[in-house]
Amino acid sequence: MEKANIDWENLGFGYIKTPYRFVSDYKNGAWDEGRLTEDDKVVITECAGVLQYAQTCFEGLKAYTTLHGDIVCFRPDLNARRMHDSALRLEMPAFPQDKFVDAVRQVVKANAAYVPPYGSGATLYIRPYMFGSDAVIGVKPANEYQFRIFTTPVGPYFKGGVKPIVIKVSDFDRAAPHGTGHIKAGLNYAMSLHAIVTAHQEGFAENMYLDPATRSKVEETGGANFLFITKDGTVVTPKSDSILPSITRRSLCYVAEHYLGMKVEHREVLFSELKDFAECGLCGTAAVISPVGKIYDHGKEICFPSGMEKMGPVIQKLYDTLTGIQMGRIEAPEGWIEVIA
Ligand SMILES: *Cc1c(COP(=O)(O)O)cnc(C)c1O
Repeated sequence: MEKANIDWENLGFGYIKTPYRFVSDYKNGAWDEGRLTEDDKVVITECAGVLQYAQTCFEGLKAYTTLHGDIVCFRPDLNARRMHDSALRLEMPAFPQDKFVDAVRQVVKANAAYVPPYGSGATLYIRPYMFGSDAVIGVKPANEYQFRIFTTPVGPYFKGGVKPIVIKVSDFDRAAPHGTGHIKAGLNYAMSLHAIVTAHQEGFAENMYLDPATRSKVEETGGANFLFITKDGTVVTPKSDSILPSITRRSLCYVAEHYLGMKVEHREVLFSELKDFAECGLCGTAAVISPVGKIYDHGKEICFPSGMEKMGPVIQKLYDTLTGIQMGRIEAPEGWIEVIA
């Protein structure tokens, strides 16, 4: 298959339109079969539930080419399940999970020319999303919905090598106790924009959000889960009902335990413990792990011993192992790699 004429190595992180997207409509209590279309425009009433009351949720995953030349996705069944959970929390009809995976396959196959080649560092980002599409003016769930998936090629997350970032403890909250922090809802991002713009203006790459009730425990950043390494080499990840369950974080914890023989703890993490950790990273689909070198807390700094020059050794090993599994250099656990073409 002929690849699109794109300079993969120098691709950025913006939206580039690809030829096909998947669309399915929910009407009269049922999802239709769905179809691929070349039409990238969404036409809905001015009074649509998504426009008035933000009834929408989304997912994010990637397709890429392995060492062996296969086009694959990483654990799309988990994105399907998470979107199911997000939809139910927002009183939306869940899109069937097997159809979700099938739709991802269809749209990636149709846009195969835009899946970057092995070794380029670039990937085809896949964005499933759904929204209330019919008119809603009194506050209630919509009656009609649209589920869509588009794709866009994105460049390597770390251009010119991985450098640890500096983040700040935010004075804003990302999620309320018993709220929607644990689902992938657009509304969680809308309310985080002011906090991230403020952090960027102050020179920080990201925000660390604390638990909103007590402000004593670590939650996550705007779009990635934390992972810490203790001085004796244990992986620690924060546990809370308002953290979004990252598929990357769960995969890294499995890899730590079953591939690297490390101890893994998923538990509440006190902010006061941070100074005792050896390494810190942010986990998410986009970067797999971004190392954190320093956390700024109202005039004080927490500096991790791994420093500001490169990833710490344990996070590097986790990163190498998971990306090795994804790229086909290391054998994957059963069911992790969905071969598409
Ligand atoms: C999507 C997301 C993550 C990362 O999840 P992955 O499944 O690893 O991509 C983490 N936190 C938030 C708030 C997110 O929306």
